[in-house]
Amino acid sequence: MDYDVVIIGGGAAGLMCAQAVGQRGLRVLVIEHANKVGKKILMSGGGRCNFTNLGTTPQNFLSRNPHFCKSALARYTPEDFLALVEHHGIAWHEKELGQLFCDESSKLILRMLLAECEAGGVRIEIGCAVERVEAVTAGFALRTANGPIRTSRLVVASGGLSIPTMGASGFGYALARQFGHALIPTRAALVPLTLSGKPLDDYAELSGLAVDIEARCDDAGFRNRMLFTHRGLSGPAILQISSYWQPGAELRIDLFPQGDAADWLTQQQGERPATELRTVLADVLPRRFAQRLCELHCESQPLRQYRLADLEEIAATLHAWPITPSGTEGYRTAEVTLGGVDADGLSSSSMESRHISGLYFIGEVVDVTGWLGGYNFQWAWASAMAAAQAL
Ligand SMILES: Cc1cc2nc3c(=O)[nH]c(=O)nc-3n(C[C@H](O)[C@H](O)[C@H](O)COP(=O)(O)OP(=O)(O)OC[C@H]3O[C@@H](n4cnc5c(N)ncnc54)[C@H](O)[C@@H]3O)c2cc1C
Repeated sequence: MDYDVVIIGGGAAGLMCAQAVGQRGLRVLVIEHANKVGKKILMSGGGRCNFTNLGTTPQNFLSRNPHFCKSALARYTPEDFLALVEHHGIAWHEKELGQLFCDESSKLILRMLLAECEAGGVRIEIGCAVERVEAVTAGFALRTANGPIRTSRLVVASGGLSIPTMGASGFGYALARQFGHALIPTRAALVPLTLSGKPLDDYAELSGLAVDIEARCDDAGFRNRMLFTHRGLSGPAILQISSYWQPGAELRIDLFPQGDAADWLTQQQGERPATELRTVLADVLPRRFAQRLCELHCESQPLRQYRLADLEEIAATLHAWPITPSGTEGYRTAEVTLGGVDADGLSSSSMESRHISGLYFIGEVVDVTGWLGGYNFQWAWASAMAAAQAL
């Protein structure tokens, strides 16, 4: 065999796994088909890489099998990754909700992983496409653009489908299928929602405005910012709920998540009866949005002119803003891919295939998808380390 371990994909999970295995003395090759490794790390977190979340729990992940991620997450924690970051002297800060970012640049996280790979003698081939994989006696034979390779064990870390311009491919899914694995249908997640037709005409000119909302779909709810864009809705609350919403499902957007809007409006009516509704709403919403809501849903008058039933109706509009997205921006801009290799076909302690000995799947290619906020990298690190320990 040429290598003990070949890893397909030089992203977060692939590099993390490679360094750990290399440092145990195994011969490791990482094959990356793009012109450089770790492209998503570089562009993550707005260039500062939200590399983990201190509050990571299995509840922060979506998967057909919600128990699958537990073992790996418990064995490699955010504190473990933070220790590595600190060992490399990378300055970091907590932004909000346990999200840890680099003070300077995402480049430092990639540099750290590459330094660890170098310490483990890992070989990395970039610009190398894998054309075919075959199971052979005691290992795998790969046909690549750079020639044939034999390895005892094969790790698939080729990620999901989001952002094809950065190297995303369906290769991992095809390979999984080839070896008898079931796939959970994929779709774009952590992705802006689009509006079309009248709703887009109604709100497109508010592009750039941010509103504090609570977005709900099924049992999931996220309180955070929503951002109007020229094509629809984005911002953390929308990205989060996009992982749960699909066209046809009910999406509930509460524009007054801080309390009971009817009580608040009644109180305002008592305190400033001569003030117009749009002015009062502008205390809690961006002024232009308040104005547009009044134009579309509730004519603005001095508060004294509303009956209690009117105020209750306005409150109901605030708590359930009547808006229906037409779809999502899709893989072009999605941060992650929902679905993927069915976790039931893998060992949750080692990420090894239950069908083919020596074959492993780690990172985003697996049907485990985190919320926004550093959870997806934590899954990449943890699943990589689970496999590394077993390899
Ligand atoms: C814009 C953006 C910002 C993000 N920001 C954050 C953040 O701040 N925090 C967070 O936790 N998550 C973030 N994410 C999500 C995070 O980047 C991914 O969940 C994570 O990178 C998944 O790691 P991975 O190693 O499984 O896949 P990837 O990092 O996508 O790596 C897969 C690698 O495999 C390569 N590859 C694919 N097909 C082949 C093939 N056939 N042959 C060889 N190589 C192949 C790809 O080119 C890629 O380099 C962000 C994602 C995006 C798109």
